[in-house]
Amino acid sequence: YYDSKDARLSVFDHGFLYGDGIFEGIRIYNGHIFRLASHILRLYESARGIYLDIGVTPEAMEKLVEEAVALNQKKDGYIRLVVTRGDGPLGIDPFVCPKAKIIIIVGDIQIYPREYYTKGIAALTSSYRRIPADCFDVRIKSVNYLNNVLAKMEAHRAGCMESIMLDGSGYVTECTGDNIFIVRQGGLSTPPCHQGALEGITRAEVLKMASAMAIPAMEKPLTRFDLYTADECFLTGTAAEIMPVTRIDGNQIGDAQPGRITCRLMQAFTELTRGYDPSIFKNDDPVIPDCCYRGILAHQRVIDA
Ligand code: PMP
Repeated sequence: YYDSKDARLSVFDHGFLYGDGIFEGIRIYNGHIFRLASHILRLYESARGIYLDIGVTPEAMEKLVEEAVALNQKKDGYIRLVVTRGDGPLGIDPFVCPKAKIIIIVGDIQIYPREYYTKGIAALTSSYRRIPADCFDVRIKSVNYLNNVLAKMEAHRAGCMESIMLDGSGYVTECTGDNIFIVRQGGLSTPPCHQGALEGITRAEVLKMASAMAIPAMEKPLTRFDLYTADECFLTGTAAEIMPVTRIDGNQIGDAQPGRITCRLMQAFTELTRGYDPSIFKNDDPVIPDCCYRGILAHQRVIDA
């Protein structure tokens, strides 16, 4: 273990030189690592996707992460777990790198401003298309994020917080660091991941919560038409959690306020991760009925078991 100021990487690390590596971003809530097993599973699937031998078993990796969190005595925070191809000579050939490098950073989470959640954010559909699966399947969570970085910069230049990325045929995929959902006629839709989206852990959590709350939800190809005509829209991700989108390409979404179902899901997610915290959402939205909470909590116990 190294103190953050002493933690160093070789300039010959192929993760640094070629973006040859994978990673996970994981939350710690109240001393608990949120969905660690799902993150470890996704990490090992990403590793298989790039033919990377991590060198330790998933069970051992779970223990390493838990140990790093315990050592840092973090109650609330963020874990960045990175595995690179390791050190090797110059040249992209991965077979010259004898040993993968595992990096576990336990740090603080930079929370987004509260008004992003109470007012919603503005998003832009990016002119940068999502990398197609026949070039690189973005379900591999690689350290190669330049496509996303360019799209994010484009959003910022246009005064928006986030970019929504389309695939080569104009279908909605995801955002630069989050999945996307819309609400229409009381039901949720989100693009299927094989169309160019990461299999987000928060996305999966929202689908489970929707099922527990009897909100219809489906994976469905979406176009810009679906975004503009949606009643509600929100993003999901480990850092952002559930974030309402109230404007896309200058178009108002619904009544330009975080929507009713979005708020219910935000509240349920807060309940799931921190226990009920009424201070987070003080709006007039009816509080999610108790039966829904019970449904989620019962569901939770099944998952934890
Ligand atoms: N899409 C992309 C491109 C991401 O980088 C992330 C993670 N930041 C997500 C979606 C959301 O995934 P998760 O809910 O697992 O954080």
